[in-house]
Amino acid sequence: MPTSICPECDEEVYVDAETEQGDRVSCDECGAQLVIVGLDPIEMDVYEEAEVDHKDDEDLEAYDYESDRY
Ligand SMILES: [Zn+2]
Repeated sequence: MPTSICPECDEEVYVDAETEQGDRVSCDECGAQLVIVGLDPIEMDVYEEAEVDHKDDEDLEAYDYESDRY
């Protein structure tokens, strides 16, 4: 399984082999929301909600499956 380095905590993050650019993942170590910005090699950035239009807020909450950890 491919891995990349979390930009928040510098830990390895496992990425699904079928991950595509623009997909979002969360870091198991620090819980940061990350977005795939490159695939060869895999690069990820901290996901910033400001990039999303307000009209997509409902979809965003649907994706926020990590929130029940808090
Ligand atoms: Zn992390």
